[in-house]
Amino acid sequence: MKAMTRRALVTGGSRGIGLAIVHALKQRGVEVVAPSRSEMDLLDSASMTAFLAKSKKSEIDILVNNAGINVLNPLEAIEPNAWNQMVRMNLTAPLELIQHVSPGMKTQGWGRIVNISSIFSLVSREKRAAYSAVKSGLNGLTRTCAVELAPSGILVNAVCPGYVETDLTRQNNSPEELSRIAETIPLRRLAQPEEIARFVAFLCSEENTYITGQTLAVDGGFTCQ
Ligand code: NAP
Repeated sequence: MKAMTRRALVTGGSRGIGLAIVHALKQRGVEVVAPSRSEMDLLDSASMTAFLAKSKKSEIDILVNNAGINVLNPLEAIEPNAWNQMVRMNLTAPLELIQHVSPGMKTQGWGRIVNISSIFSLVSREKRAAYSAVKSGLNGLTRTCAVELAPSGILVNAVCPGYVETDLTRQNNSPEELSRIAETIPLRRLAQPEEIARFVAFLCSEENTYITGQTLAVDGGFTCQ
């Protein structure tokens, strides 16, 4: 019997980890919808509503909430607007997308959701108060969704990348900092986006039958020290 083609919605698929996830899913025969920011701006609920209104809820089997921002600020400098944007982008938008796709997944009795969290939901570093808070929130959201959706055959997990070679990492760390950071990682190097994407694709596949509600670090051993 021919295996059915699964359909995925991936956010932030234009670059970095998201682009690698799009490629990894396509390699596994998954059809991928990866709206650009101009098609669906996650900071703008009207833009999300307009894009989602055009897509049929029942057509999405796999959701990867990958897009994220990390605005660094020391505690005293976090302003309400920046805080609200961090919450909107990294926590509220993933919730709204889960709410959008889960009814269709329930009807089909199958679904896979992966939320891209961060090692900074498990440990932290200066200037990461907002980022650590929202990514920790995403882990909590993951656990509750896993519990609520498991009876419908929907598995929900959070993946916590360590330092990955992407624009986001280069934007927040100087080359000198990155060399120093690499020395603190047991594997002595940053990750390539594909190393995160392969694991995400596995969690989204038929091969994953029993992992749900987990917060899984892919970090070269960084958080085990
Ligand atoms: P990135 O290279 O900065 O790419 C971010 C992606 O998100 C881009 O596709 C970008 O689209 C999209 N995006 C940004 N703002 C958006 C908006 N308002 N609406 C829709 N899309 C938007 O990021 P990355 O490093 O690949 O990170 C991906 C995820 O992994 C994030 O959740 C991040 O927190 C997490 N993470 C990354 C690392 C790391 O070391 N890189 C480590 C731990 C966790 P445009 O091309 O239009 O800007």
